[in-house]
Amino acid sequence: MSKSKLKHAANDSLSRSLGNQKEKNEQRARQRFNFNNLIRQFHQTIDTFPDFRKGKNISKSFKDAALAAFSVFFTQSPSFLAYQKIMQESRGENNATNLFGVEEILSDNHIRNLLDGVSPHYVNPMFHYIFDGLNENGYLEMFRSFNNNLLMPFDGTEYHSSDAIKCDDCRRVEHKEGVITYSHSALTPVLVKPGLNKVISLPPEHITPQDGHDKQDCENAAFKRWIGKHGARYKGLGITCTGDDLYSKNPICEMLTKDGFDFIFVCKDTSHKTLYEYLNFLKEDIKEVTIRRWSGKKWMLETYRFYNGVPLRDGEEALEVNWFELVIKAEDSNKVSYRNTWVTNFEITRENVKNIVADARAHWKIENGSNNTLKTKGYHLEHNFGHGKKYLSNLLMTLNLLAFLFHTVLDLFDENYKVLREKLATRKTFFQDIRALTTYFCFDDWDYMLSFMIQGLKKRHKVPLLDTS
Ligand SMILES: [Zn+2]
Repeated sequence: MSKSKLKHAANDSLSRSLGNQKEKNEQRARQRFNFNNLIRQFHQTIDTFPDFRKGKNISKSFKDAALAAFSVFFTQSPSFLAYQKIMQESRGENNATNLFGVEEILSDNHIRNLLDGVSPHYVNPMFHYIFDGLNENGYLEMFRSFNNNLLMPFDGTEYHSSDAIKCDDCRRVEHKEGVITYSHSALTPVLVKPGLNKVISLPPEHITPQDGHDKQDCENAAFKRWIGKHGARYKGLGITCTGDDLYSKNPICEMLTKDGFDFIFVCKDTSHKTLYEYLNFLKEDIKEVTIRRWSGKKWMLETYRFYNGVPLRDGEEALEVNWFELVIKAEDSNKVSYRNTWVTNFEITRENVKNIVADARAHWKIENGSNNTLKTKGYHLEHNFGHGKKYLSNLLMTLNLLAFLFHTVLDLFDENYKVLREKLATRKTFFQDIRALTTYFCFDDWDYMLSFMIQGLKKRHKVPLLDTS
């Protein structure tokens, strides 16, 4: 065989083996992220919940309580359990059992009382199981961003605020008039990528009453705790943490660089006096790149400015960081439509500044792609499903976040799910249909329900008959 033929044969064999590997990964991922397997895994996670009950009144099961709460978030239907109870009474079967493995539909009070003693960190293994599965099967690669890193935005979100409903874990803010506000917030980190319409939720970190008095202290303390608990799992993968101005503080940035993380944080002049004094002094040396871009309506000028090596704060121990800015103006009017400034540990060049800015700007996806979806698109994150005395509020929020993550991975790996989400166009229609169907029909399992929906779409005018006797 000639040299070139040998080379072709070697290339063919390499691409065949890469193709086989890809197929194997896809197959493994589809098995791992099949709904029934995810629920099985969740059952095992619930088995680790601690049973704090004493005495003889322990007939009700934790598993039933946790699965029931989860089913409400997963179906986005606050009345799901009530309808399934009616179905059980009238037909002797129900979807809470068939879809989620609930053995007995408990009363709301039972569910709340059982779950109030379970710290939300017992749910974390489910987040790890999904993340590790994505990693092992090569699916994190689609999230690779600048420097081949994974982009991990951090942001705090408030999901409870009341002047009456409270628990031991509530944060208290006393107002002048003597009114006290009780609230719950959490850091809800995700994986994102500029231009990719998917976010992967990571374990949340609940902000505790001891974390501090203002937003800055609270988020910084929770962030340090998150890195302490989970940092080892992620840092080897090449992670860029992003955050708002609360994060561009010396202790945070120093901790991240020591731990092997990269960072891109907003850096405002109002909170970084020393850094901006330096920049003002060095302004002649600030590098600048301007790109002219057609917005679809008019020409815009994007001006990128950067400087490597400025102290983040006053004092000898200050960390040196690299500063950059983006200003977008309309070419004809000179009117500024966007301006933001950040700091990073990445060395910035004329060639890479645009990509670093793209990563910095992908931070908003945590708000639009995750937190707002959870609050306004059916997950009812701020709805009070029960507050409890100890952990209930935090645990329910965590189960809600897990339900959102289940839907994200099903949308990636479940073929029927993908087809339905595409055909039904909106998230709202999809969940409305699931709510209606599970109210009137009892399905053998999740896969059967999705097949039924797809069949219904194909035969628009002839609904397949089910044996509902
Ligand atoms: Zn509370």
